[in-house]
Amino acid sequence: MHIVLISTPIGFLGSGKGGGVELTLNSLVSGLLSLGHSVEVIAPKNSKLYKSNEKARLHLVEGEDQTSWQHQNYNSPVIIPDNSLLAGMLEKGLDIAKQADVLLNMSYDWLPIWMTLNVDIPIAHIISMGSESLVIRNLISKVYDKYPYNFAFHSQIQADDYPFIKKPIIIGNGFKLDNYTFQDSMKGPLAWVGRVAPEKGLEDAVYVANELGEKLYVWGVIEDENYASKIEQSFPQGTIDWMGFLSTDELQKELGKCRVLLNTPKWNEAYGNVIVESLACGVPVIAYKRGGPSEIIQHGLTGYLADPDDKKNLLSYVEIIEKIKRKNCREWVEKNASTNIFANKVVNWLNKVIKEYK
Ligand code: UDP
Repeated sequence: MHIVLISTPIGFLGSGKGGGVELTLNSLVSGLLSLGHSVEVIAPKNSKLYKSNEKARLHLVEGEDQTSWQHQNYNSPVIIPDNSLLAGMLEKGLDIAKQADVLLNMSYDWLPIWMTLNVDIPIAHIISMGSESLVIRNLISKVYDKYPYNFAFHSQIQADDYPFIKKPIIIGNGFKLDNYTFQDSMKGPLAWVGRVAPEKGLEDAVYVANELGEKLYVWGVIEDENYASKIEQSFPQGTIDWMGFLSTDELQKELGKCRVLLNTPKWNEAYGNVIVESLACGVPVIAYKRGGPSEIIQHGLTGYLADPDDKKNLLSYVEIIEKIKRKNCREWVEKNASTNIFANKVVNWLNKVIKEYK
């Protein structure tokens, strides 16, 4: 298959601003290449693919980013800036896709979904968020009536946000296992990884660290400075150790030394890449029982699922985290979330999409 991928219109690949989509795209490219498919990627200027993905052709586009939907009101209209990066990536993608089998869109936005109804090229969409915008939700519903196979989701619970989709296609996610080293030390610190923004609920993890009289190591882009400094001020100085945004390789080296990852989202997290990355290093995860994390974590085997927003419950599981065997964590990823497993699911799905157009 010849597949053209469109990246997120928020931040270049490697910036961290695009969140989990950046890693998902690279993992998918790895899996597709190893299955023998031909891949082209359209991405913002300065983007880089993994070195091992050099067989994929990368096309760079310049322009203004979109505003992320999770930071707008649910009823906000679509805003497309002048010199729109998204429009530029689509123009390029549609042009290249004339010679390809399918255009695979990974941006959560209105324009590419709307295009589906207005061009003959098959456009498939990996929906990377729960329902964060009314206008996008309604458009998905409209396109779904004509093209029922063109949308795929990372988890069932994410797809439940789009109840008009009767049998959602669930593709999970994939991770390049060679990029993560298993570490077996159970005595390390507490970790938290993610974009520092209100939907990620960092404050609940800091609460746990503070109750235990420990530091919380925090990795990720600080997307919302106000939110970060408010949390910092509500706890004793030094409770948070800001570690910054690291490359996958640097991150996994540090994360692997930790005894547990706390994952505390307040929204319907579509999947939660950082959970699987942590498990791949052998680090168990405690998360709230909501969104994608509740489908990934095997309660009592690879970590624990706490009652949503119940910080004391979260804390009680940290106290028994040594009961989790770190090997179970790595094994779960090997069996369920490798790049090849992920790419196979995506290819099976894309075959269905292509058939609709014949
Ligand atoms: N991440 C990273 N370096 C860091 C912190 C985070 O590369 O120092 C990446 C991480 O690998 C993951 C992404 O940031 O792929 C966060 O994705 P997730 O699905 O957890 O949440 P999202 O940001 O998409 O809501």
